Amino acid sequence: MRVPDIKIAVDGYSSTGKSSFAKLLAKKFDFLYLDSGAMYRGVTYFAQQNGYISPDNVISDSLKDALKELDLHFEVGSQLYMGAECIESQIRSMTVSSQVSPIATVPYVRAWVDERLHAFSEGGRVVMDGRDIGTTVFPDAEIKIFMTASAEVRAKRRYDEMVAKGQNPDLQEVLENLQQRDYIDSHRETSPLKKADDAYTLDNSDMTMQEELAWVQGLIQGKFGIL
Ligand code: C5P
Repeated sequence: MRVPDIKIAVDGYSSTGKSSFAKLLAKKFDFLYLDSGAMYRGVTYFAQQNGYISPDNVISDSLKDALKELDLHFEVGSQLYMGAECIESQIRSMTVSSQVSPIATVPYVRAWVDERLHAFSEGGRVVMDGRDIGTTVFPDAEIKIFMTASAEVRAKRRYDEMVAKGQNPDLQEVLENLQQRDYIDSHRETSPLKKADDAYTLDNSDMTMQEELAWVQGLIQGKFGIL
């Protein structure tokens, strides 16, 4: 199926499988995949490494100026780099997960990330996942998908992912972390997580990736009249 040059926005709660789904679409349709959450995680890692955030989430005002010097970018295979260093595994740790949502409430951090996401996606044919892509980053995206699944299903998926990477997570801690992130993400003042009015909901609690793919292909075919 030849998909036109469009933007696809994939938003939703933590660990709903947005990135696996978005990566699959990118591969299938030959689109660029951009993980906006990785950028917030990268800023968080940078803030932690340089003392701009305290253990009780007090964020120093000097982070704003420091961001001017920060180079976060993706290299082959959607790996996040800070300068010359690949920080992909560091940004997936519980240490980063536990402070990313407070960092993502800061308006100047959001503006900094949004500016880069726009620059990275110049030229279209992009699928981007996050929390506010359909509402704020790409309000003009032709296809908007809002993903959801039960908290228990999501925590178990995240837990299995971490175990597969050789980490040793606690299931309850993983569940609490994603519930806390969902709460902060949906209640913040700037660009809160919410379904765009024109987004299609995808509840994948009981769906396989192939079923998800068939669902979105049907959606695109219907919308653009292609076979
Ligand atoms: O997608 P992921 O779970 O890696 O995102 C990490 C965190 O980054 C989210 O919990 C949220 O606080 C923040 N985020 C955001 N807006 C986005 C993407 C992520 O606020 N578009």
